[in-house]
Amino acid sequence: MSFYRSKHVFRALAWGMVSLGVLTGAIFPLVAVELGVSAELALSPTFVGTTLAAGLIVGGLNFALASRIVRPRLRRLTGKMRQVRSAMDQATYTGDWSECDPAVCQLKEQAEDELGDVADSYNALLQALHAAHRVEERIQNFNNTLSSQLDLHDLSEQALSLLIEHSEADGGAIILEKQGEWTIPASTGLIEPEAILKSPALQAAHEQAEVRRFDLPEEVRVDAVLSHFTPSDVLLLPIKHHGLLLGWVVLAAASPFSDKTTRLLPLMIQGLGLALNNALLHDDLQRVAALDPLTGLYNRRFGMKRLEEELARIQRNQTPLSLIIVDLDHFKRLNDTYGHLAGDKVLVRAASVIRDMLRKGDVVMRYGGEEFIAILPGSDIEDGADIAERIRFALAQSRVEVAGHTLSVTASIGIACTADDRLSSAEPLMKLADSRLYAAKSGGRDRVIAEGAGEALAS
Ligand code: GH3
Ligand code: MG
Ligand code: MG
Repeated sequence: MSFYRSKHVFRALAWGMVSLGVLTGAIFPLVAVELGVSAELALSPTFVGTTLAAGLIVGGLNFALASRIVRPRLRRLTGKMRQVRSAMDQATYTGDWSECDPAVCQLKEQAEDELGDVADSYNALLQALHAAHRVEERIQNFNNTLSSQLDLHDLSEQALSLLIEHSEADGGAIILEKQGEWTIPASTGLIEPEAILKSPALQAAHEQAEVRRFDLPEEVRVDAVLSHFTPSDVLLLPIKHHGLLLGWVVLAAASPFSDKTTRLLPLMIQGLGLALNNALLHDDLQRVAALDPLTGLYNRRFGMKRLEEELARIQRNQTPLSLIIVDLDHFKRLNDTYGHLAGDKVLVRAASVIRDMLRKGDVVMRYGGEEFIAILPGSDIEDGADIAERIRFALAQSRVEVAGHTLSVTASIGIACTADDRLSSAEPLMKLADSRLYAAKSGGRDRVIAEGAGEALAS
């Protein structure tokens, strides 16, 4: 029937009701005749006209009543929907979605009929849209926070803390591959997180980098305020960039992660792949810029920056710092006799001998051609002289085989210490160590000078 398919429901309803009324009005005189009313009266134009008019009026009133009940409710619904749509349009550009919050926008239609169903469906749609928007917003915030971060360590810490916050995990770690080794640049709330690196389950996961449930090694536990516990749910999420596995996010919780969380986390981690890749590149570039390519020690520019940093630190800590300058003896002669390549090999060996004599926290740089500087925070002049003597001895003992020749080299060494107030900055400290080196050279080479040459202080 065309009535049922009409695009104008209320017009079709009006036609239907009025036609029904008129039809009833038309039939009524015949029914009246059947019921014994005289045909003369029942079929008279006045009677027929009256019944037709009555049918028309009843049909019209029916339609008016239906329209009056349904139309305002429909208008209310559409009005509210239009309002929300325009709020959404605005929010897309202003970023302020508060007007579109379901709490503000939802329809309060009480009806238990089809109109109520329309309102419920609309409210559900609004909720779904809002939830999708919240997910998008979280991912965007997460990416924005991370994209400005180039320091690998800070980036990992920040990403982990955001992921823990969003997933309501109790602890977690970020595992990264750096120069062929797996490391943990950030971990929170885990005891002995390093044990994860040795876990066979992690090794197996590298084969197929996808989100999975994970059993933490026994020694890894979550550090709660009052106790340590083994988490009931652990997620292992791959961090990828252009399909390449960069690392993993481990998240551990006392109670199982919700479905929503396990679906949201991989979306958040997509952006982390790009940010981490940038930070890894930056880290590589910084390392290349800081190192001397021949010996792998810090270069002069970076080494001197480190000296300034260490001097500032020891000033705060009120501890001494010794500076050792090592200059290889008659190196030009060695080059001239055995060639530049042989000289290079001797330099590489000398660098590794010096590095091996130092402690963790000491800094060593290649200052120039065959000159090295070691910075020893926390060492007074006696400590410095002791280490310098060990360096001198080790260098004199070391041998380098080049093209059938056994080469050896000695070094002259000058030391200065910040114990004197006038030596608390780099320039006078270097100057004094250098004049002591000069004294070692003029004294016959292959020796350490840790005192005298004080005239450098006065100048
Ligand atoms: P002294 O005992 O007085 O220090 O004598 P020396 O020959 O070591 O001193 P000098 O400063 O005259 O010579 C340093 C030499 O170190 C000159 C240069 O050929 C050499 N040299 C500098 N850089 C490199 C390098 O990268 N490789 C090699 N093989 N030699 C280098
Ligand atoms: Mg020199
Ligand atoms: Mg020299």
